[in-house]
Amino acid sequence: MDVYDITIIGGGPSGLFGGFYAGLRGLKTKIIDVLPELGGQLTALYPEKYVYDVAGHPKILAKDLAKNLGIQSQLFKPAICLDEKVINLIHQQNDSVWQVLTDKSSDHYTKSLLLALGAGACVPKKLDLDYNPAFENTCIFYSVKNKDFFRGKNVLIIGGGDSAVDWANEFSTYAKHVTLIHRRDQFRAVQTSVEEMAKNKVDVKTFYELKEIKGKDRIEGVVIFDNRTGKEEALPIEAILINIGFVINLDFLKSWGLKMEGNAISVNEKMETNVPGIYAAGDICSHPAKLKLIATGAAEAATAVNFAVTYINPSAKAFPGHSSNLNLSI
Ligand SMILES: Cc1cc2nc3c(=O)[nH]c(=O)nc-3n(C[C@H](O)[C@H](O)[C@H](O)COP(=O)(O)OP(=O)(O)OC[C@H]3O[C@@H](n4cnc5c(N)ncnc54)[C@H](O)[C@@H]3O)c2cc1C
Repeated sequence: MDVYDITIIGGGPSGLFGGFYAGLRGLKTKIIDVLPELGGQLTALYPEKYVYDVAGHPKILAKDLAKNLGIQSQLFKPAICLDEKVINLIHQQNDSVWQVLTDKSSDHYTKSLLLALGAGACVPKKLDLDYNPAFENTCIFYSVKNKDFFRGKNVLIIGGGDSAVDWANEFSTYAKHVTLIHRRDQFRAVQTSVEEMAKNKVDVKTFYELKEIKGKDRIEGVVIFDNRTGKEEALPIEAILINIGFVINLDFLKSWGLKMEGNAISVNEKMETNVPGIYAAGDICSHPAKLKLIATGAAEAATAVNFAVTYINPSAKAFPGHSSNLNLSI
C-alpha cells in the first residue's frame, strides 16, 4: 500500500498552491482533479480573462496564472492524477489512513487530506433544447477557451451572471454583433458590469429565452421568445455562449461526516474541518471571514498544509520558516 502524507482533492489555484506548500514541507503529496487539466476555474471558466488582484501580478491572464501555479505546484514533484473524480473516502487501519476512492481507482491512500474542491465537480447547466451534439465546443460553448473564435461573428449569450455579462462586454468590442438574453430582468452580475453593458454595443433582451437553434452542420440562426407574451423573434446567430450556472452536487461531503454550512465545509482558523486529518481551503470552505478569492484561497491552503504537517508529525512546527532561505533550482 503506497500511503501519501497528504492528498489534495482539487487542482484549482488553492489545491495547486497547497501542493507547492506540501512539497516545501517535505510531504509526500498527491493531487487529484476530475478535469483533464490543472487550474480549476481559471482554466475551465475564464482562461482568457485578466486577473488583477493576485499578489505580485498586477495583470495576468487566468490561463497564465494557472500555468504558473502548475509549475510552482510541481517543483517538488507531487503525484498528479487528472480526469479522476473523487467519489468516496474510507477510514483504514484504525482511522490513521484514508482510502480515497475515485471513479477510476481505489488505490489512493493518505494520512491527511486537503479538500480544495472549489464549487465541487461542477458541470455547466446544459440547454434544455435539442441541438446537434457536434455543435458543442464548435459553435455552442459553455465556457470560452478561445475568445478569437467570436471575433467578427454574430454572438448570442445566454445568462445574467458575471460570466455572461463580462463576456458580453468583452465581445462587444470585437464581435460583429452581440445579443444577450436573460429570462428575468434581475441580473446576478455585479451592478457596475451591468451598467457597462448598457453603454456597450450589446443588445440586451430581458425576459427572453431560446426556443430553437437552426442548422444541421453549423448554426444558421436561432429563434428566441419573450417568456411573458410568447412573441418569437429570429436572429442571425453564428455562435452561442451559454452561462446559465452549474449543476453542483456536494451531498457526498456530508456522508464523509463533514460539518457543512450550506454548500461549504466549515473550518476553523487552522483550516481544520471537524474530522481530524481533513483540512479544507479555497471556495469550498466556510469560516466567519470567508472571501472567495484566489488570494485568500492560497493563504488558506498554505495554512491548511502547514497545520496538516503538525497533524502528521505532532512534534513538527506549523511555521514553515522562510522560503527565501532555500536554494531551489527552478
Ligand atoms: C468568471 C470568473 C472570474 C473570476 N475572477 C476572479 C478574480 O479576478 N480574482 C479572484 O481572486 N477570483 C476570481 N474568481 C474566483 C476564483 O476563480 C475562485 O475563487 C478560485 O478559482 C477558487 O479556487 P479553488 O482552488 O478553491 O477552486 P476551483 O478553482 O473551483 O478548483 C476546484 C477544483 O476541484 C476539482 N474538483 C471538484 N470536485 C472534485 C472531485 N470530486 N474530484 C476531483 N476533483 C474535484 C474541480 O475540477 C476544480 O478543478 C473568478 C471566478 C469566475 C467564475
